[in-house]
Amino acid sequence: MGPSRILVVEDNPLNRRLAVDVLRVVGYEVAEAEGAPQARVWLASSLPDLIVLDVSLPGTDGITLLGQLRADLRTRAIPIVATTALAMKTDRERILRAGFDAYLAKPFSPRVLRQVVGDLLQGRANPTGAPHG
Ligand code: MN
Repeated sequence: MGPSRILVVEDNPLNRRLAVDVLRVVGYEVAEAEGAPQARVWLASSLPDLIVLDVSLPGTDGITLLGQLRADLRTRAIPIVATTALAMKTDRERILRAGFDAYLAKPFSPRVLRQVVGDLLQGRANPTGAPHG
Protein backbone atom coordinates (compact mmCIF):
# COMPACT_ATOMS: atom_id res chain seq x y z
CA MET A 1 0.00 0.00 0.00
CA GLY A 2 1.42 3.35 -1.03
CA PRO A 3 0.83 6.74 0.53
CA SER A 4 -2.73 8.02 0.85
CA ARG A 5 -3.89 9.99 -2.15
CA ILE A 6 -5.54 13.36 -1.76
CA LEU A 7 -7.23 15.60 -4.30
CA VAL A 8 -7.15 19.33 -3.55
CA VAL A 9 -9.82 21.37 -5.38
CA GLU A 10 -9.23 25.10 -5.04
CA ASP A 11 -9.44 27.89 -7.60
CA ASN A 12 -7.08 30.32 -5.87
CA PRO A 13 -3.57 29.38 -7.06
CA LEU A 14 -1.80 30.48 -3.88
CA ASN A 15 -4.26 28.72 -1.55
CA ARG A 16 -4.05 25.63 -3.74
CA ARG A 17 -0.26 25.64 -3.65
CA LEU A 18 -0.21 26.06 0.14
CA ALA A 19 -2.61 23.17 0.75
CA VAL A 20 -0.81 20.92 -1.72
CA ASP A 21 2.59 21.65 -0.17
CA VAL A 22 1.38 21.21 3.43
CA LEU A 23 0.07 17.74 2.56
CA ARG A 24 2.91 16.69 0.28
CA VAL A 25 5.59 17.52 2.81
CA VAL A 26 4.19 14.92 5.22
CA GLY A 27 4.15 12.25 2.53
CA TYR A 28 0.72 12.25 0.96
CA GLU A 29 0.41 11.86 -2.79
CA VAL A 30 -1.47 14.99 -3.81
CA ALA A 31 -3.29 15.85 -7.01
CA GLU A 32 -4.81 19.25 -7.65
CA ALA A 33 -7.71 20.70 -9.59
CA GLU A 34 -8.67 24.34 -10.06
CA GLY A 35 -12.39 23.69 -10.32
CA ALA A 36 -15.21 21.17 -10.46
CA PRO A 37 -14.75 20.29 -14.17
CA GLN A 38 -11.06 19.53 -13.69
CA ALA A 39 -11.85 17.53 -10.54
CA ARG A 40 -14.42 15.45 -12.40
CA VAL A 41 -11.93 14.71 -15.20
CA TRP A 42 -9.33 13.57 -12.68
CA LEU A 43 -11.89 11.53 -10.70
CA ALA A 44 -13.03 9.74 -13.83
CA SER A 45 -9.75 7.82 -13.91
CA SER A 46 -8.52 8.03 -10.29
CA LEU A 47 -9.98 7.62 -6.83
CA PRO A 48 -8.45 9.56 -3.96
CA ASP A 49 -8.60 8.52 -0.31
CA LEU A 50 -9.75 12.03 0.60
CA ILE A 51 -10.73 15.32 -1.06
CA VAL A 52 -10.06 18.85 0.17
CA LEU A 53 -12.72 20.96 -1.51
CA ASP A 54 -13.07 24.73 -1.65
CA VAL A 55 -16.71 25.72 -1.20
CA SER A 56 -16.40 28.89 -3.32
CA LEU A 57 -15.49 27.84 -6.85
CA PRO A 58 -16.41 29.69 -10.02
CA GLY A 59 -19.10 27.85 -11.99
CA THR A 60 -20.00 24.66 -10.16
CA ASP A 61 -19.40 25.43 -6.48
CA GLY A 62 -18.11 23.04 -3.85
CA ILE A 63 -21.50 22.23 -2.38
CA THR A 64 -22.84 21.25 -5.81
CA LEU A 65 -19.78 19.13 -6.54
CA LEU A 66 -20.12 17.50 -3.12
CA GLY A 67 -23.71 16.57 -3.94
CA GLN A 68 -22.64 15.02 -7.23
CA LEU A 69 -19.89 13.01 -5.54
CA ARG A 70 -22.26 11.79 -2.81
CA ALA A 71 -24.79 10.73 -5.44
CA ASP A 72 -22.22 8.59 -7.26
CA LEU A 73 -21.61 5.11 -5.81
CA ARG A 74 -17.99 5.29 -6.88
CA THR A 75 -17.21 8.44 -4.91
CA ARG A 76 -19.90 8.64 -2.23
CA ALA A 77 -17.78 7.30 0.65
CA ILE A 78 -14.70 9.45 0.09
CA PRO A 79 -14.10 11.77 3.07
CA ILE A 80 -14.43 15.39 1.93
CA VAL A 81 -13.08 18.40 3.81
CA ALA A 82 -14.66 21.78 3.05
CA THR A 83 -12.44 24.85 2.99
CA THR A 84 -14.09 28.22 2.94
CA ALA A 85 -13.61 31.89 3.61
CA LEU A 86 -17.13 32.03 5.05
CA ALA A 87 -16.64 32.52 8.75
CA MET A 88 -20.09 32.63 10.30
CA LYS A 89 -21.20 29.85 12.62
CA THR A 90 -24.37 29.43 10.55
CA ASP A 91 -22.22 28.86 7.48
CA ARG A 92 -20.33 26.12 9.27
CA GLU A 93 -23.56 24.39 10.23
CA ARG A 94 -24.91 24.69 6.69
CA ILE A 95 -21.71 23.23 5.26
CA LEU A 96 -21.57 20.28 7.64
CA ARG A 97 -25.28 19.63 7.05
CA ALA A 98 -24.58 19.54 3.31
CA GLY A 99 -22.56 16.38 3.94
CA PHE A 100 -18.94 17.45 4.26
CA ASP A 101 -16.94 15.47 6.81
CA ALA A 102 -15.05 18.48 8.11
CA TYR A 103 -14.90 22.22 7.78
CA LEU A 104 -11.86 24.51 7.73
CA ALA A 105 -12.23 28.29 7.68
CA LYS A 106 -9.51 30.07 5.71
CA PRO A 107 -6.91 30.93 6.64
CA PHE A 108 -6.24 27.68 8.48
CA SER A 109 -2.95 26.52 9.90
CA PRO A 110 -0.97 23.67 8.36
CA ARG A 111 -1.33 21.81 11.65
CA VAL A 112 -5.14 21.94 11.55
CA LEU A 113 -5.26 20.77 7.94
CA ARG A 114 -2.95 17.84 8.66
CA GLN A 115 -4.92 16.97 11.83
CA VAL A 116 -8.26 16.83 10.03
CA VAL A 117 -6.85 14.89 7.09
CA GLY A 118 -4.94 12.44 9.27
CA ASP A 119 -7.96 11.78 11.47
CA LEU A 120 -10.34 11.25 8.55
CA LEU A 121 -7.91 8.90 6.83
CA GLN A 122 -7.91 6.83 10.03
CA GLY A 123 -11.71 6.82 10.07
CA ARG A 124 -11.86 9.25 12.96
CA ALA A 125 -14.29 12.15 12.73
CA ASN A 126 -12.85 15.57 13.57
CA PRO A 127 -15.09 18.09 11.82
CA THR A 128 -13.21 21.19 12.95
CA GLY A 129 -9.65 19.98 13.31
CA ALA A 130 -9.53 20.06 17.10
CA PRO A 131 -6.23 18.78 18.45
CA HIS A 132 -6.23 15.66 20.59
CA GLY A 133 -3.61 13.55 22.29
MN1 MN B 1 -12.43 29.74 -4.08
